[in-house]
Amino acid sequence: MNRLKYVALGLVIAFLPLVAPNPFFVFFAQTLAYTAIAVIGLELLVGLTGQMSLGHAGFYALGAYGSAILAGKSGWSLWASIPAGVVIAALSGIAVGLVARRTRGLFLAMATLAFGYVVEIAAQRWVTLTGGTMGLMALPVIDFGNVRRGPTYYLWCAGALLIAAQLASDYVHQSSAGRALLAMKESDAFAETVGINVAARRTLVFAGSALLAGLSGALFAHQSGFVGSDAFGLRLSLDLLIAAVIGGLANSNGPLLGTLLVLAMAELIAPLQQVALLLRGIILIGVLMLFPGGAIGLLHIFRRKRAEGQPDASIEAPPFTKVQGARLDAHELTKRFEGVSAVAGFSIAVEPGTVHAIIGPNGAGKSTLIHMIAGLHSADGGSLRIDGRDVTRMPAHRRARLGIARTFQNLQLIGALSVLENVLLGMTARRSAIADFFRWLTSRDFEQDARARARGILRMLGIAHLAARRPAELSYGHRKLLEIARAIAQEPRLMLLDEPIAGINAQEAKEIADVVRRLRESGVTILLIEHNMEFVMSVSDRITVLDYGVKIAEGLPVAIRRDPKVIEAYLGKEAP
Ligand code: ADP
Ligand code: MG
Repeated sequence: MNRLKYVALGLVIAFLPLVAPNPFFVFFAQTLAYTAIAVIGLELLVGLTGQMSLGHAGFYALGAYGSAILAGKSGWSLWASIPAGVVIAALSGIAVGLVARRTRGLFLAMATLAFGYVVEIAAQRWVTLTGGTMGLMALPVIDFGNVRRGPTYYLWCAGALLIAAQLASDYVHQSSAGRALLAMKESDAFAETVGINVAARRTLVFAGSALLAGLSGALFAHQSGFVGSDAFGLRLSLDLLIAAVIGGLANSNGPLLGTLLVLAMAELIAPLQQVALLLRGIILIGVLMLFPGGAIGLLHIFRRKRAEGQPDASIEAPPFTKVQGARLDAHELTKRFEGVSAVAGFSIAVEPGTVHAIIGPNGAGKSTLIHMIAGLHSADGGSLRIDGRDVTRMPAHRRARLGIARTFQNLQLIGALSVLENVLLGMTARRSAIADFFRWLTSRDFEQDARARARGILRMLGIAHLAARRPAELSYGHRKLLEIARAIAQEPRLMLLDEPIAGINAQEAKEIADVVRRLRESGVTILLIEHNMEFVMSVSDRITVLDYGVKIAEGLPVAIRRDPKVIEAYLGKEAP
């Protein structure tokens, strides 16, 4: 973590009210501090998970009214009313997040828009509670009973909370938590297969984002002591979104900068009240067109330094740790797509610590079978056991945690992350967010061990020199190797390989054959799908032949090579 940043921020907040030339600056800094808290929350949601919210003003309003009503009408102390407002906002965030957990894009934008609208209308119409547009007046303000020093105290409080929010956001952006969110943003199915509970994380991020918006709103309510319904419209939701986007998404320094720009802009164009919204729109579009990375992208002093490019000759390829391979039993597995049986009553027993290959022509149902074992397709019939335990209905992320890792025939790599970070994704399920947070607080390179291991795996596969690149910059062969590296990082007990050498050169294929053998030696059970017979014959202990979703043969490699049914169905042209 970059301590200097917090020290600088802390110093500015501490001394600004003492040296500010006039009260306007202090007021501006106060507004900046609490507004940025909401923008930090929104950026976590939009920047990292790719979920859109057009209703954040709703959470902000719930925080503001919650605290304002409890403090102003019920006489609660601010120490209790502000946390209560925050909790109300967070709970409503969980409710909206539950709706949002399986949706993105337009539907979510509409749902959040509706939520924000409902809150705004309630604030306007429920006059007995909220005071409507006339609002609630003479609310307690954060001044610790000292009117003259009040504004200073307020800034210190809001500033301290801003630093706490920034700290939390920085941690998420720099840790496996943020990588998991970026992975979900690109592919739910992939994220599930590395053990990420996608639905739960989406809900959690939504709740956290709403919590920060609620905190921001509660601070707003106790800045001037007045809360009126006019403050919480779509315009506020849009302003928060504009600040997040202008600052730069998926960068934890973006929100503070974006909020500063939006508030400064609002001051500058205040005289042009008639066209204020239009001007904002023009500026937003201009920024997006000219600097898609947002303002933060321009300040590359803040840009995250990537450590993965540094040479580190000292790191050896890790010896595989011995594991107890898993046993896989499928019984009468069936999967239909619109009436067509992709897999029909397929049974297989894969012994622990062996390489079991499944071969068959294109469209035979091999990938569908892997999807069912990994949990990405639910079986229409039959059952699946891992070490005797029924997992037929178990969600994919839990199967991953049981020790199932897989590669995808059509690669699943996360484009927003570096090669090394893609490997680190494989370790997500094994890392504890809380332990990581404390390591992050106290050490400069809190993931040193994980990075070293990831580099070791890349080295073993011969692609360590590409660690700092993005997957898109890699050749197809290298991307296939990366896919395997990530699966190895999961430390699986059962590895599902879907055509690992299709489309790669002979040298790379040899390396993969070697890796498969080493994995088996370490005890891992391997279910291998591959077209290349030479490869299959050279690494497999047992082979099952699939045709039109049905098993047509099974046995030792030598027997399969000679089986007339197999030769007819599959090997026809290739067999001697
Ligand atoms: P293989 O991996 O052996 O080439 P697949 O498992 O990919 O075969 O496909 C088996 C059959 O199921 C094919 O006929 C394919 O068209 C069909 N299929 C696979 N996935 C889907 C899907 N998501 N929707 C509809 N049909 C599918
Ligand atoms: Mg396939």
